[in-house]
Amino acid sequence: MRTRLFIDGQFQEAASGEIFPTRDPARLTEIAHISRAGLEDVDRALAAARHAFDHGPWPRMSPAERAELLRAIADRLESHPDLAELEARDSGGTIRRISVMDVPWAVGTFRAFADLAEHTPEEVDLPFDERAPGRHVVRREPIGVCAGIIPWNFPLLMAAWKVAPAIAAGNTLVLKPACMTPLTALELADVAHRAGLPPGVLNVIPGPGEVVGEALASSPLVDKVAFTGSTAVGRRIMELASPTVKPVLLELGGKSANIVLDDADLDVAAGAVLWAAFIHAGQACEAGTRVLVQRSIFEELTQLLVERAAALRFGDPLDPDSDLGPLASRDRAKHVAAYVAIGVGEVGPPICGGAHPDGLPEGLDREAFYLPTIFKDVDNRARIAQEEIFGPVITVTAFDTDDEAVALANDTIYGLAAGVQSGDVGRARAIARRLQAGTVWINDWHAFDLRAPFGGYKQSGIGRELGRWGFESYQQLKHIGENPALEQASHPPLAVLGNAV
Ligand code: NAD
Repeated sequence: MRTRLFIDGQFQEAASGEIFPTRDPARLTEIAHISRAGLEDVDRALAAARHAFDHGPWPRMSPAERAELLRAIADRLESHPDLAELEARDSGGTIRRISVMDVPWAVGTFRAFADLAEHTPEEVDLPFDERAPGRHVVRREPIGVCAGIIPWNFPLLMAAWKVAPAIAAGNTLVLKPACMTPLTALELADVAHRAGLPPGVLNVIPGPGEVVGEALASSPLVDKVAFTGSTAVGRRIMELASPTVKPVLLELGGKSANIVLDDADLDVAAGAVLWAAFIHAGQACEAGTRVLVQRSIFEELTQLLVERAAALRFGDPLDPDSDLGPLASRDRAKHVAAYVAIGVGEVGPPICGGAHPDGLPEGLDREAFYLPTIFKDVDNRARIAQEEIFGPVITVTAFDTDDEAVALANDTIYGLAAGVQSGDVGRARAIARRLQAGTVWINDWHAFDLRAPFGGYKQSGIGRELGRWGFESYQQLKHIGENPALEQASHPPLAVLGNAV
């Protein structure tokens, strides 16, 4: 398979002619060769997006017309025959999860933002107030050209979360997917144009973050930058956006605490802990990686976690029976192994995992797979409890009181998500309100509602995606104040200043 950059409504070669391979991480085989974007391509993509915003039809269409097109994109994604498989092969995610979560949620994202575009009034007329006589209208307008930069863990969903709100609000966009996983973002651009999106509204240019990402974040032609990725790169994006005072939307890393209270059903709680932590081999920003367990159930729950983790089935991501696939690359598995070595130094050997799995089906690359790994009795200040590992590794820490659980949960630079597993909803809600996290799940995890905001407290980010909060972040506000003088003779224009001078 050979694919190119998507600029101004068509696939185009990179100016340099360079190409790079993308691999199926489960087998290490190359699945596609892709044009590698460089600075000249950034310029071309930005010129296309700029032209589409400044002169094209998209920002000038009515919200209802834009909504109709978003729904057409959603329909095409939903009936796309190969999208789930393409995503599973490129990212190593299991086809089961991608078919029931990633693809339907990407489709739902376009539908949700179509609804918001249609139902959010473009103009609000403020009620008359004699302290500010006249007519005061607040308009919502698109921001302009947006840049979206996304990671490799959920490539299609992350692309949908950047593209749908930006274009629903009338902006144009240049999207830079991660080089490891560019295929479904390019496919999305093609689908959108076949559905009728005007050229230049959505441009997709895979290329190195240090070149393409930095150029987008710093360009004076970009009016807003939306970034999902690590906190370290998020800090860099803020720096690069600062000279041109661009608004930034940052969705960054996490080290989310999952609190298990002594009144929880242990079987259900054990399931919730594994689901929270090990989805996509732990490569989820909102994964529940710090498990805090009340002391009276600590030993029993830990034992259950080990037994249940051992029962998870590794396999080919394309096999619907696989619970877990590989990490996104061999390098990611090496990165996880390095953190496990740090953990061994800090707290001793893990109580399970800590190695590549045996007995994988023929043809799979064992070096890319890694066993669910559990470290017990971990001090919350240990590096493995504080640093984002982004793999199938959890720490388990005991606590005595609810106050202590809250203090431990909040003792991190991150604040993306958290969870409380409990049989007493009132107690769980009281704890949820005290947790410094953008999302808190009670007796659940990864339960997204596309109408609810998603984003982080503290160093997990700035701003929110999804819901009306996400939609509004792609709009800017304009106040049009009409002097009433022409209508009301009693109220002359610039009355105060006029008298003063
Ligand atoms: P990353 O920060 O290394 O890269 C993310 C994207 O930024 C990629 O497209 C990359 O090419 C680009 N990039 C890298 N360096 C850049 C630079 N100097 N300037 C501009 N762009 C640059 O992250 P990753 O390893 O791809 O993804 C994993 C990280 O993403 C984790 O920290 C995870 O928590 C985070 N994440 C967060 C969310 C969220 O919604 N909060 C969702 C998914 C992933």
